[in-house]
Amino acid sequence: MKNKNSGVNSKLIHSGGFEDLLGSATTPIYQTSTFKFKNADHGAACFTGKEDGYIYTRIGNPTIEELENAVADLEGGFGGIATSSGMGAITTVYMAFLGQGAHMVSHNAVYGPARGVMESLFSKFGVEYDYVDTTDIENVRRAIKPNTRLIYTETPANPTIGITDLKALAKLAHDHKIPLCVDNTFCSPYLQTPLDLGADIVLHSMTKFINGHADIVAGMLVAKSEDHYKLLRGIMANMGCNMDPHQAFMTRRGLKTLGIRIDRAQENAKKVAVFLEAHPKVEWIRYPGLKSHPQYELAQTQMKGPGAMLSFEVKGGFEAGKVMMDSVELALLAVSLGGIETLIQHPASMTHSKISREAKIKAGITDGLVRLSVGIEDAEDIIQDLDQALQKV
Ligand SMILES: *Cc1c(COP(=O)(O)O)cnc(C)c1O
Repeated sequence: MKNKNSGVNSKLIHSGGFEDLLGSATTPIYQTSTFKFKNADHGAACFTGKEDGYIYTRIGNPTIEELENAVADLEGGFGGIATSSGMGAITTVYMAFLGQGAHMVSHNAVYGPARGVMESLFSKFGVEYDYVDTTDIENVRRAIKPNTRLIYTETPANPTIGITDLKALAKLAHDHKIPLCVDNTFCSPYLQTPLDLGADIVLHSMTKFINGHADIVAGMLVAKSEDHYKLLRGIMANMGCNMDPHQAFMTRRGLKTLGIRIDRAQENAKKVAVFLEAHPKVEWIRYPGLKSHPQYELAQTQMKGPGAMLSFEVKGGFEAGKVMMDSVELALLAVSLGGIETLIQHPASMTHSKISREAKIKAGITDGLVRLSVGIEDAEDIIQDLDQALQKV
């Protein structure tokens, strides 16, 4: 992007800085595994880093790099590292900062598999962890140990929609010289830029809002510092959780419309939230745009908008939630989120099923909690669908 001060919607379309030799309006898909060197000296210089040049697609590729540059620009970081999936980004961060005897403090309502992989896999290598409610910074302060090497959070969290004060958390982390990593999937850089609030690393499941069309699985890490960027890129390349050029092309295309998609989904979500809050069959609803949200004020200052994700409890618990999910007609009963279509799911039996019931209840993931990702259909149709489904409860 030539003009650093461009608005976010201009950046969504033009950022990435790739100039195609033939003038192609979109970045071509460099569907190649390897790249020819000009000569032996050039090859050697590429390996030592003395000269710029592509070597091998697992390490870097122009189509992927354009996407990395675009997201890094939007997040305000030094550089981006694209990964095969959001989980690829998460495991790369764990590998970078944690090892034998190291300890992590994380949010007790993070994305289910981010916790699952820590408890079932990283624990095998002697990594220690504490999952606490990071929406109260004091919980994090109490959990920090001399061997804490990473603080990890997600805000709004999945699926409780709890909001963590990133400025306060970054200050606490840095007072202890610990890096802070934030999963920004629910907001995307269109609604929240954690690096500006003090975080060191931002990660995304681009499967969700950034690509936005439910046709790609992809991840991204953005590091604020050059040192973290180099560390993370090296680990990603060695673990082999790199993106594919075609996947990068599709994701870059989705990114271009992120702004208008979120604007529309968010307008719909505001209407759906008001409808649900007033509905007699709804016990409670969590949406950052409603005054009833416990961190409504914080959401106003930290996020540029309340987003399109909400959760609510149907009166009657698990069975009632099940009836509702079996009764929707327009909304898709599916995991994932952030796409153009409205999705509904039940975390207790789906995304968070691998976590013990006790841990779920502690994290506020109740049996009847239903998570809704509001799409860009007509708001009236979404509301009508939820209404007819609730009437069957
Ligand atoms: C989906 C998701 C992930 C994991 O991403 P994948 O692309 O499915 O690997 C991580 N964090 C959040 C908040 C998610 O919603």
